[in-house]
Amino acid sequence: MKRKLGLVYGGKSAEHEVSLSTARAVTHAIDYRKYEVIPVYITYDGEWRKGEALAGPAETIEQLRLTRDESKPDSIQDFLNNNGTPDIILPLLHGTNGEDGTVQGFFEVMNIPYVGNGVLASSAGMDKVVMKQLFAHVGLKQVPYVHFIRTQWQKDRQLLIDKMEQELSFPMFVKPANLGSSVGISKAVDHDSLVKAVDFALKFDRKIIVEQGITAREVEVSVLGNDEPSCSVLGEIKPVAAFYDYEAKYQDGSTELLIPAPVTDGVEKTLKEMAIRAFKVLDCAGLVRADFFVTEQNEVLINEVNTMPGFTPTSMFPLLWQHSGLSYPELINRLIELAIERHEEKK
Ligand code: ADP
Ligand code: MG
Ligand code: MG
Repeated sequence: MKRKLGLVYGGKSAEHEVSLSTARAVTHAIDYRKYEVIPVYITYDGEWRKGEALAGPAETIEQLRLTRDESKPDSIQDFLNNNGTPDIILPLLHGTNGEDGTVQGFFEVMNIPYVGNGVLASSAGMDKVVMKQLFAHVGLKQVPYVHFIRTQWQKDRQLLIDKMEQELSFPMFVKPANLGSSVGISKAVDHDSLVKAVDFALKFDRKIIVEQGITAREVEVSVLGNDEPSCSVLGEIKPVAAFYDYEAKYQDGSTELLIPAPVTDGVEKTLKEMAIRAFKVLDCAGLVRADFFVTEQNEVLINEVNTMPGFTPTSMFPLLWQHSGLSYPELINRLIELAIERHEEKK
């Protein structure tokens, strides 16, 4: 019997289109002798639509943009309906409701094994403040930062600005705490742009983090595993834009990737050790991409981990594994195995 692999993609996030291209690529990497793919498309409005099982790769992205079947009940109910419920889920979602633990909680409640991080790691990794607090707890070096919520900003703006100007220096990076893909992030170079940047970030989230901006190289590592995770080779990002923003990440291809990253053995060792420590403190499972800053003096600071990193064949996470000897189809197969192992272990 083939196992039913539910591919969940789309979603109510800025990375909806990225998720669709990932889904298409994944359908090309599945071993159809072992699995049949049940496409589950989440629309921009958050509506779940389950499609007919795929016995082979999706030719186009459009094929995966499932239209509504009026004859069927509401799609979440349809999804829950036993007939055709996936045996295992591969969520290819980013951002809100995708990698923040909410959808993971749904799969937990349904008792279906799913690829990647669980509820805790996903939600802690989605909140940059919580993530940094946990990193600090295990002594991971990072840039200094200040954080606050909207209500504080409305009441004590001057106090907060004083605090930021005292504890940090320009440039500063202002970020919504709970987003990814650089959405809502801006670089503040003076008092006025700082105020603007905070107001802008507040459009996306009620919690804000303001970080010390640093001049450093950006080096990343892919981590794979459950209780005994391992690291890939390192990769460096050379953004051509002012910083690694949304366009640079997904749209204009203006970013150069250096794999393996040209760093000293010392930096590599430190960075990998830090990545594993980060993976463990968040209690990650399956996969994580850990992102670092490496300064001129070869100081390594952790920037963040991404619990559902970009996953098209040209994304950093799979590329790093490819350079480490694990092809895209092998990687997907391994992730599915890890999901099943973890599910068995929980019992
Ligand atoms: P996201 O989760 O959206 O990827 P990041 O925190 O990684 O957010 O920030 C996006 C990009 O902004 C980084 O890849 C980097 O280029 C730049 N950046 C973020 N924080 C800093 C910082 N403190 N100093 C310098 N550059 C930064
Ligand atoms: Mg991120
Ligand atoms: Mg990032």
